[in-house]
Amino acid sequence: NVADIGVTGMAVMGSNLARNLARNGFKVAIHNRSVAKTETVYENYKDEGEFFPSESTEDFVNSLQKPRVAIIMVKAGGPTDAVIDELSQYMDEGDIIVDCGNALFTDTRRREHALREKGLHFVGAGVSGGEEGALNGPSIMPGGTVESYDRLGPMFEKISAHVDGVPCCTHVGADGAGHFVKMVHNGIEYADMQVISEAYDLMKRALGMDADAIGDVFAEWNKGDLESFLIEITAIVLKHKDSRTGQAFVDVILDQAAQKGTGAWTVQTALDLGVPVTGIAEATFARSISGDAAEREAARATLKGETLDEEIADKAQFIDDLQKALYASKLVAYSQGFEEIAKGAETYDWDIKLGDMAKIWRGGCIIRAKFLNRITEAYDREPSLKLLLADPYFTEEITKCVPAWRRVVAYAAANGFPAPVFASSLAYYDAVRAERLPAALVQAQRDYFGAHTYKRVDDEGTYHVEWSGDLTETRQDG
Ligand code: NDP
Repeated sequence: NVADIGVTGMAVMGSNLARNLARNGFKVAIHNRSVAKTETVYENYKDEGEFFPSESTEDFVNSLQKPRVAIIMVKAGGPTDAVIDELSQYMDEGDIIVDCGNALFTDTRRREHALREKGLHFVGAGVSGGEEGALNGPSIMPGGTVESYDRLGPMFEKISAHVDGVPCCTHVGADGAGHFVKMVHNGIEYADMQVISEAYDLMKRALGMDADAIGDVFAEWNKGDLESFLIEITAIVLKHKDSRTGQAFVDVILDQAAQKGTGAWTVQTALDLGVPVTGIAEATFARSISGDAAEREAARATLKGETLDEEIADKAQFIDDLQKALYASKLVAYSQGFEEIAKGAETYDWDIKLGDMAKIWRGGCIIRAKFLNRITEAYDREPSLKLLLADPYFTEEITKCVPAWRRVVAYAAANGFPAPVFASSLAYYDAVRAERLPAALVQAQRDYFGAHTYKRVDDEGTYHVEWSGDLTETRQDG
């Protein structure tokens, strides 16, 4: 019983996390289903810190100090369940199992409830930042009990990224809260990447700019409101030349985006919760459209487009407009993502501090950006803020962008360039601030065909019209 913490699953993520812990002075037990991997990790990195390799799960568990903390970093789904079953056989009451894989939060809730019955703590911890983050400091989003965080938190806070001395790790909330927040983080990442791609596409196709010149624009944008890891790497990637052909690297990549499912989870969950995450949904669908080669081929063969083919007279103005359209659409996506977290917290009874979520995303993770400070400040000003966009700072920021945003969306639509997140975010913005929506007509239609009833603007109660009878209105509630 010597190790402070253990990691099972010695593929790239698990081994990097174990090395990060060891480099930070923790004694780390390591284990993998196939023994060879454990041995390789030990041989390659034993000089980085104190590792305690085990061949069997039983020895692995026994090498941990009590209350034990064992991190699982294996393939999500069935393999995670199998490893939990094995570990829990050898564990004692009060021990802690931590799943740092990309689990669906409902699985984490199920696992937490099952292990609680056995007297064990189960922590679903979202870990963002990929391989590099796992090794050098990720953003960590742990759920589970407060008691388990007391034991685990200090270690995670030490190995996480830090911004202004503040760790990018905090206790998110009970059971699946950590994995829920990680899921929404990934959804926001989808939207963030898509808005960048829409600006790129318009510079490329509407302005005819080459990748190198577009890279310069992103590098410039990275000095302003948009400063972020994703904008920074976009500039780098766009300026990169293919080693084989010497062409712009981006131009030799097949234009079919893949996805591992966390964007889709975010959208599916939002639909269940009734939260309009239009930015994330359009970004996810944009990847789906790109990935369906056969459908695109069929469409290309027949759909002609009838575009206006307008010349852009003032290039610099258009680039400035694009920056504002990108920024405004990004603000919408973040506002929607935070609304999903708030709704999740309400539904599942998690005490999530929204401002702290923005704080722990400032470093380590893919959506890291200075602008997240503004989100934290907004929730500090008003912890029960209904809508991030309604915060005075964000209201002012988005208002400044509106005319440019409309010009970009109108130009893109008229000239046949798809900008689904720019356009749908603007539609959302106009819908959510509208005095009156056509939902009134939808309610009338629903009452007509399904007797679904409606409420009136000038009276209390629920009503129905006898559409197939004498058209009288009757009150339905008492
Ligand atoms: P993989 O997802 O490729 O999983 C490989 C590991 O799982 C190996 O250690 C393998 O053991 C183990 N494993 C598979 N099936 C079983 C089983 N039935 N029983 C026991 N062990 C099993 O590894 P990664 O390092 O890429 O990812 C680990 C986790 O981290 C995943 O949940 C993934 O989604 C997540 N992840 C997170 C990222 C992030 O940025 N946060 C990035 C990448 C991944 P063996 O060697 O014996 O086959």
